[in-house]
Amino acid sequence: MVHSNCHTHTVFCDGKNTPEEMLLAAIDKGFSCLGFSFHGPMTPDAVWTIRPEKLPAYTAEIRRLQNVYGDRIEILHGIELDRDCCGVDPADYDYMIAAVHQLTGGELHYDVDDTAATLRTCRDTLYGGSWLALAADYYDRVAEFTCRVRPTIVAHLDLIEKFNEDNALFDSGDPAYQALACDCADRILAACPDVLFEVNTGAMYRCGKKQPYPAPFLLRHLYERGAKVIVTADAHTTDALDFAFDKALAAIRAAGFDTVYELRKVDGKAKAVSVKL
Ligand SMILES: [Zn+2]
Ligand SMILES: [Zn+2]
Repeated sequence: MVHSNCHTHTVFCDGKNTPEEMLLAAIDKGFSCLGFSFHGPMTPDAVWTIRPEKLPAYTAEIRRLQNVYGDRIEILHGIELDRDCCGVDPADYDYMIAAVHQLTGGELHYDVDDTAATLRTCRDTLYGGSWLALAADYYDRVAEFTCRVRPTIVAHLDLIEKFNEDNALFDSGDPAYQALACDCADRILAACPDVLFEVNTGAMYRCGKKQPYPAPFLLRHLYERGAKVIVTADAHTTDALDFAFDKALAAIRAAGFDTVYELRKVDGKAKAVSVKL
């Protein structure tokens, strides 16, 4: 079983609980390790990201928690970055999660995980109504950003599937769509063979998605390519910290894996540690 989570948001960005509340909940659950991540600064209207002026207080709070609770649980100080590093130096953090949450064109930008309506508007405005064109651009951005910044973890690889339960928006069984997603994974693996791909239960908690990211075909592809996977909750509340981890592990097993990875603190540093299923 997995007793850790390295994708944890707090009130410093769009989470609902303080870092201390999240940490106490993790200790209550018997976790070995909790990694804090936050959405790195972006444009001022991206209200789900941390404000740059809050960065010192955030770091100070994680250090305080380390001093108070560091003998009871491993604590990691991470960051989830989007598109570029936004003035943040990743070297200041124990690990980095790379993600693409926005698609942009000129002055326009759309959060792909906002609502189905936002994603449709994005498709119509930026991609002439074509889901495939949207998917091609999304996966290209994920691969480009990940290969450029070489993170520890790739977040929710197929985030554009968030509202696509039962193909409500587009046909994710379309071979042309699947080729885009698989090609993205291959580009990432060619540049970063040791990167950890998230199996992320965040949307299962937040909007009732039946399965984690990535979709079964993509998880299977990752297995066939020898990729490493890590289970994360993308938690924004205390009760989400290990939400549906059993289902995520079942999906991982079903794809063929016999090993997952956990991010742990070893000799003061973040380290991917394998766990046999
Ligand atoms: Zn994210
Ligand atoms: Zn996140």
